[in-house]
Amino acid sequence: MRPTGPLHLGHWLGALRNWVQLQDAYECYFMVADLHALMGEYENPAQIEKSSMEMVMDWLACGIDPEKSVLFVQSQIPEHAELAMILGMITPLGWLERNPTYKEQLREIAGRDLTTYGFLGYPVLQAADILLYKANKVPVGEDQLAHLELAREILRRFEHFYKKSLFPEPEALLTEEPRLLGIDRRKMSKSYGNAINLSDSEDAVRKKVLSMITDPERIKMSDPGHPEVCNVFSYYQIFADAPLTEKAHAWCAGAKLGCVDCKKTFAEVLIEALRPLMKRRREIAARPETVRQILQEGHGRAKARAEQTMREVKEFLHLVRI
Ligand code: SF4
Repeated sequence: MRPTGPLHLGHWLGALRNWVQLQDAYECYFMVADLHALMGEYENPAQIEKSSMEMVMDWLACGIDPEKSVLFVQSQIPEHAELAMILGMITPLGWLERNPTYKEQLREIAGRDLTTYGFLGYPVLQAADILLYKANKVPVGEDQLAHLELAREILRRFEHFYKKSLFPEPEALLTEEPRLLGIDRRKMSKSYGNAINLSDSEDAVRKKVLSMITDPERIKMSDPGHPEVCNVFSYYQIFADAPLTEKAHAWCAGAKLGCVDCKKTFAEVLIEALRPLMKRRREIAARPETVRQILQEGHGRAKARAEQTMREVKEFLHLVRI
């Protein structure tokens, strides 16, 4: 995960809840992808370290367990850059130039010059991240499938050239992502300032819920609303239990409750759901040295795997060993 700012409800529902479960079924490696963050933030890297530490605090608060999984920082393991360099030598430029995410981001991200060598090679570094640990499953959302396919193609080309199999073919572990929009009904994103963050205080959550956009046709309390088009109601469907969700539907459609009260009710539901996580988050934030310790331990485990893979890769490639 790239440390690009505070994690929000979308990360929790879309990735972290799933990661927590995966820990019991797999040997998991969770990486702070700070080199990937640098690709986008190379002009302004000042926040990368802080965001990285805060992101790990969010992971731990959500239930990522360093006893079960390996948590580590990408830039601390130079083998990522080393393998990316080697894979870059066999990756045709056309594959990278055709990458749909690359083209989309060049178009969509204004104010940053992304026409860099590093940004074009982003999927090569991702392939290295995966192959270095010989991962056979990668938890991804739909939007990352093209990158994973590119990693597989790079791997096949590697094996085609060197006529030997070194890595398992990584498969997607598709994560179901409940549709959760930001408080302004756009995609939830730090850059839109419309996210409810895992590190928000209870008061901040209340304020954000109260500012959520609702059914635009419901002007007065006496207007019957349309819960199916209201963002607040979609949150009820995810976070509230069935009886309360049905009640909210009836309040709204029957014009029995105003939007402010409906939101106030929901804010308490959301805070209740987040409370254990918020409490753990505060406890972890009070002991930042623990986070560094966890990353150091994870580093040792990840580094050993990465070094072993690179020894094998170099042997394959007849690079000089002294
Ligand atoms: Fe949305 Fe609730 Fe208002 Fe209905 S009453 S429009 S569900 S906030």
